[in-house]
Amino acid sequence: MTGTAPAERRAELAKNLAVVRERIARACLHAGRAADEVTLVVVTKTFPDSDVRLLYELGVRDVGENRDQEAAPKAAACADLPGLTWHFIGQLQTNKAKSVAGYAHVVHSVDRLRLVTALDRAAQQAGRVLTCLVQVNLDPVAPEETGRGGAAPADVPRVAEAIAAAEALRLGGVMAVAPLGVDPAAAFARLADVANALRQDHPDATMVSAGMSGDLEAAIGAGATHVRIGTAVLGSRPTLRYRPNR
Ligand SMILES: *Cc1c(COP(=O)(O)O)cnc(C)c1O
Repeated sequence: MTGTAPAERRAELAKNLAVVRERIARACLHAGRAADEVTLVVVTKTFPDSDVRLLYELGVRDVGENRDQEAAPKAAACADLPGLTWHFIGQLQTNKAKSVAGYAHVVHSVDRLRLVTALDRAAQQAGRVLTCLVQVNLDPVAPEETGRGGAAPADVPRVAEAIAAAEALRLGGVMAVAPLGVDPAAAFARLADVANALRQDHPDATMVSAGMSGDLEAAIGAGATHVRIGTAVLGSRPTLRYRPNR
């Protein structure tokens, strides 16, 4: 961040990463799972590409972003880092599919048929294959009212089927954000049910993206394979959003 010397920032990120990795290891131990069953996706939204580079030096290979306007230039600025996987985790408008398909490897927020069509067309044009997760809305309130995206659990099979049938998309599994005011463990247990049902028809769709800084233990306890961690690694998000070439 502005005003922080790179060495200082590196030390801060290293310390935070160690804490988060330890939390993941403990949660796995507690759940009787192997630590390598869980992938840490560091959510770098609002932070500069210099932080992505420092994280890369510290061994991070999976980063997450939620806005295309910010992610596209950041991914371009980091294109020289081999083996870095970009996860798109935010609500995605159909007209942004073309851009996202140019740099993202995994899209966690696929929640409707029109988006499947748009992503498939864009991935084909880019000559790329995208792994897609069906975002599940676990809110007891209707998705349209919460505005946070996600398919209703009953609609998940239809969206999954469309992804599986698409030429340039691969069905990875499911993703969810624990709704506000609900016990995260209960929400993630519901997600686990949806994930298990999906695997009956799509045995390779094994990814379960769940858990953020505040609830990663509950998510790992319920079978998460990917946790999306922002604040606990990078600190509080700045109010000014990242801008390329600032
Ligand atoms: C920002 C964000 C995260 C990370 O949240 P933290 O609480 O900062 O760890 C995870 N998932 C999604 C979808 C996000 O938008």
